Amino acid sequence: MNRRATAPGGATPSASPGAPWAAEEPGAWLDPGRPVPDLVTDVPGPEGRRVLERDARVTSPSLPRAYELVPRRGFGSVVEDVDGNLFLDMNAGIAVASTGHAHPTVVAAVRRQAGELLHYSASDFYLPIYSELCDALAGTAPMSAPARVFLTNSGTEAVEGAVKLARAATGRQYVISFFGAFHGRTYGSVSLTASKARYHAGFGPLLPGVLHAPYGYCHRCPLNLSYPDCELATVDYLEQTLFRYEVDPGEVAAVIVEPILGEGGYVVPPPGWLAKLKATCQRHGILLIADEVQSGAGRTGRMWAIEHTGVEPDILCSAKGIASGLPLGAFIARDELMTWRPGAHGSTYGGSPLPCAAGLATLEVLRGERLLDNAREQGEFLIGGLRQLRARYPWLIEDVRGVGLMLALELPSGHLAEELQLGAFRRGLLVLEAGESAVRLSPPLVIDREQCQTALRLLAESLDEVATSFEAEVR
Ligand code: PLP
Repeated sequence: MNRRATAPGGATPSASPGAPWAAEEPGAWLDPGRPVPDLVTDVPGPEGRRVLERDARVTSPSLPRAYELVPRRGFGSVVEDVDGNLFLDMNAGIAVASTGHAHPTVVAAVRRQAGELLHYSASDFYLPIYSELCDALAGTAPMSAPARVFLTNSGTEAVEGAVKLARAATGRQYVISFFGAFHGRTYGSVSLTASKARYHAGFGPLLPGVLHAPYGYCHRCPLNLSYPDCELATVDYLEQTLFRYEVDPGEVAAVIVEPILGEGGYVVPPPGWLAKLKATCQRHGILLIADEVQSGAGRTGRMWAIEHTGVEPDILCSAKGIASGLPLGAFIARDELMTWRPGAHGSTYGGSPLPCAAGLATLEVLRGERLLDNAREQGEFLIGGLRQLRARYPWLIEDVRGVGLMLALELPSGHLAEELQLGAFRRGLLVLEAGESAVRLSPPLVIDREQCQTALRLLAESLDEVATSFEAEVR
């Protein structure tokens, strides 16, 4: 007689005992003696090409797709594709795998949680892990007053929620964001996004009440000025242009800003820029929303990039790195702002048990393994190496910038940035274009010195190739 417990519906709890994926330790597949990167086929190889063929038939052609990487598994800063090629990952997905791929602590937390409770909605019920994570995230808030947290499934939902909260809390309608900014692709967020016109093309009318202003992008100043003589004139644009000709500041609910532009090219605004923006907001009772979806979760060597500036946001949006790859976003606001009525905002899945478990484990790993210190140390080493590359190719690398492990090279054109990205891929190095003509480095925060050295060596080789092939185009 079968004595095993039978779950309602007849399924036996141990119907698939010893499933291989469940037993295997994260990273057990990775031979520690194998160099990284190590390409054993063309990229993509035969298996990869099969995936690409199916993909081309059945997926939405709207997906932007950077290059033909077909990842199968990962560990730390290493990714293996379906053909067994090993890549050094300086992308972390798109700045998501903050603790590295398949960090054992994160994997263990997710496995444990999966065996206990896959779903109960925190919208209608009191999921303990939800408030545990809110408590932990509120503890990281760069705000002097107590904070509350709302959990979402993604960055764009965090932005949507933050804008709704700002409108509800102020009773005002308008929202200002910046040229070059990326805040997501759902209707509210995409209306704020202004990093590429194609994100809007064909989708209008967009959310009304959104205005844009120039960002503090010194390398290609939108006002053709130079820092510090400019006296941060891009911020003055709000008072002198928007508030004078377009909108009464008393009707502006919020200014939303990335403390460092993400998709817009890893642009770091000049010293004092965010402080001046905050002062402008304060003068008019406007809330400052920091979108830290890409810059947060330790990437810059502080938990939140805005901490480098001493500016306190009123609301902060997060996603990507906070759960090491599981779908989780959050917006954090001062307690006194989050006074909206029950039912004003909710979500079936936002803050589901698995992402919450991954989020708590991620915070534990960031602290326990001192990954913020590592982001600072490896970031300094990498930016030093990038500056040396710039000295070698001053005509090819226009700018090197970034903070911690949020770094970029700016090339003269998008075409050259793409060639550099592809040259790196052919060598087993994963980097990603950003903005009009930048290539970004956003590796997992567990990256080590040897991997950084390898990345610089492969970037140098890729630059050599671009320099040889395209010198006539640029000089
Ligand atoms: N905000 C910023 C700064 C981002 O970089 C992104 C995504 O790249 C988003 C919002 C949207 O996040 P998601 O793609 O998770 O919706």
